[in-house]
Amino acid sequence: MFSSLALTQALPYLPLVQGDIAYGVERRADPHLIDDVLREAGTSVVLTRAGLLAVPFGQRALTRQSTAHMRLAMLPGQYVADALPHHPEVKAIYLGSYAGAAPQHVVALDLTDVAHQSPEDAARHVDDAFDDANGGHDTHDGIFASAVARFDWVDLRGFAPRASAREIGQATTMLALSNWFAYQRHCPHCGYPVEQAMSGWAQRCTNSEDDFRLLFPRVEPAVIMTVVDAQDRLLIQHNKAWKNPLLYSVSAGFVEAGENLEHACRRETFEETGIRVGEVKYLGSQPWPYKISLMMGFKGQALSTDIQVDGEEVGDARWVTRDEYTDLLVTGQIEAPGKATIARVMIEEWYGRQI
Ligand SMILES: [Zn+2]
Repeated sequence: MFSSLALTQALPYLPLVQGDIAYGVERRADPHLIDDVLREAGTSVVLTRAGLLAVPFGQRALTRQSTAHMRLAMLPGQYVADALPHHPEVKAIYLGSYAGAAPQHVVALDLTDVAHQSPEDAARHVDDAFDDANGGHDTHDGIFASAVARFDWVDLRGFAPRASAREIGQATTMLALSNWFAYQRHCPHCGYPVEQAMSGWAQRCTNSEDDFRLLFPRVEPAVIMTVVDAQDRLLIQHNKAWKNPLLYSVSAGFVEAGENLEHACRRETFEETGIRVGEVKYLGSQPWPYKISLMMGFKGQALSTDIQVDGEEVGDARWVTRDEYTDLLVTGQIEAPGKATIARVMIEEWYGRQI
């Protein structure tokens, strides 16, 4: 039997890959790292809040344009340096630096726990940010609340297709850590509150009897797979949880305890569609910062073609040739996954060109 997997190459490019930032891991344990780099000229600050990214005011409208270029809102590090120690509700992450004549550091601030502020108060503070005469920062109490009010806030799915690889990397890291801070507020071992550690990349338990245990994020592995049959048709499916009734993508799911990746691929496909998968081939991976998961993409060869959807998670599944897939797309009967997703790149690998 012909196996299209034999010709399948690893994916050359994935949307949420890391850019060229140097993590500076060896410096993270320094408790003064963030305070120090914020005072260096050239340090920039990027912002996240409740799963969203700050972009310059007015850019949210660009997420509806396919060709627009978006960028992250950036504050000068020196502008927030004095205020940050007075705002324990603001969580800071040292993202790393870019090489140059002098290193250009990037610090992310998580404003999820900052109370909202009226646009009028906000206007006063953010204008200060770019006023060189205002060196005293005597009004720093409101600068984080004003940032919340004065920037636009967008989803990674809208941002990534329109942004540079460098900024997508920054955005993905800060969203992953911010989402972790939001759902792990207590030590999973003893239940005590946690505090920030390792320049934002870890947490520390505040219980002395738990030896102030250092806690690292648990990345959740998930598999996603394109499944093809002997005629090189692709298995596509619509899941009931997807709000867009036209969205068709491929099978995916979390790896169970004690399971390897190949087994997870075969189990998920069989559970969702009744299709048995034989050989599987690794395609590539990308982080998916919601719930800090890591999506690992595979291509699987189907051993059967009789579809039986589970009816719970998957509402419909079908085999398509490339011509049939093209026809479904151009006639608007289905829509492909978004441009920031690994699913789209995997489908394009099968399709042989961009969707
Ligand atoms: Zn603890």
